[in-house]
Amino acid sequence: MPSIKSDRTRTFVDLDEHFGAHNYAPLDLVVERAEGVWLWDVDGHRFLDCISAYSAVNQGHGHPRIQAALIEQAGRVALTSRAMRNDRMGRFLKKLTGVTGFDMALPMNTGAEAVETAIKLARRWGYEVKGIADNAAEIIVFSNNFHGRTTAIISASTEPAYRRHFGPFTPGFTFVPYGDADALERAITPNTCAILIEPIQGEGGVIVPPEGFIKRAWATCKEHHVLFIADEIQTGFGRTGDLFACDYDNVKPDILVVGKALGGGFYPVSAALANRPLMELFKPGDHGSTFGGNPLASAVAEAALDVIVEEKLPSRSRYAGAKIMQGLRATSSPLVKEVRGRGLMIGIELSVKAKKLAHALLERGVAAKDTHDYVLRIAPPLVIDDDAIAFLLDTYREALATL
Ligand SMILES: *Cc1c(COP(=O)(O)O)cnc(C)c1O
Repeated sequence: MPSIKSDRTRTFVDLDEHFGAHNYAPLDLVVERAEGVWLWDVDGHRFLDCISAYSAVNQGHGHPRIQAALIEQAGRVALTSRAMRNDRMGRFLKKLTGVTGFDMALPMNTGAEAVETAIKLARRWGYEVKGIADNAAEIIVFSNNFHGRTTAIISASTEPAYRRHFGPFTPGFTFVPYGDADALERAITPNTCAILIEPIQGEGGVIVPPEGFIKRAWATCKEHHVLFIADEIQTGFGRTGDLFACDYDNVKPDILVVGKALGGGFYPVSAALANRPLMELFKPGDHGSTFGGNPLASAVAEAALDVIVEEKLPSRSRYAGAKIMQGLRATSSPLVKEVRGRGLMIGIELSVKAKKLAHALLERGVAAKDTHDYVLRIAPPLVIDDDAIAFLLDTYREALATL
């Protein structure tokens, strides 16, 4: 059983705590090396990664093909800025639009930046196409959402911890309970330009909406001339067993926001996608990012997309997810209220603090993190194999029994 409180581990934890801001409460696991679904800490102990950097490592750690693309590109040119063109961005965006089925993409770096991009695009559409009076546009968002940490985005949050003493907030957001299609219908006004929605809420505690809700929300948007913005930063690229979670409901968003796994676990890459008439509302000088679309990011993301498609990660996620879900549900315990999710986006809701289970798992070699106090998220890289699944389920049974 790994001793996670070794002096060596403690040294790194102390460094972080002394010199780093305390804006996270991480596991006491100091990673030195990783490969596929496995992590090794500074004492040489091995852990199964069930966090996957919040789904940024769908392809598995250190995927050789993505690593090779990174190294090769780093040896030629890494950064140009958009003041000039580079020979990688266009290829990357051609692949990204091909894989996602949109006409055009706007590349950024972090998820929050891509969400901001979508908000700006939707508002511009509201003014220039829908004819909303300037500064009156409203975007409908949902309770318990997570779209990032910028000041505008936290203005669209209902989570007190994300907002406390960070005001004043950006106006223009209307709140509707997640999963309530009637409330959504009622909340739409002539000034509504868009809804912004996670097809499954990740940070909110792996909340799967009622069957048919996403489809109805989309139909409501069509009926009222409102854009449907899907934030698939976490659910995207195979995580939920489909390429995108919206595919499950046969919904094609007007704006698709992607990030996380687009960088293949190597580099921050995000994008907002839309069809031509919408995306062309952006004109030179309207919006941008120094690092967005840089050659290194583009080379990495192109390889990351190739791996998702060629290694059929969505169907692997569906298979592994079903197997894990079945195993978790077969382990009955009075402490487990619900096991839910889709594909490899799985949440275990407990009647005790999920931190306790996370700790018991960590001591036995599984790294998983609690979210929203009572939910433990199980989200390994999509390349997880049967042996690792068996290890996960055995460890889960053992850890649960100790609580
Ligand atoms: C992680 C996440 C974001 C924010 O992405 P960052 O890269 O951390 O800025 C936005 N939306 C969802 C659904 C996410 O899971």
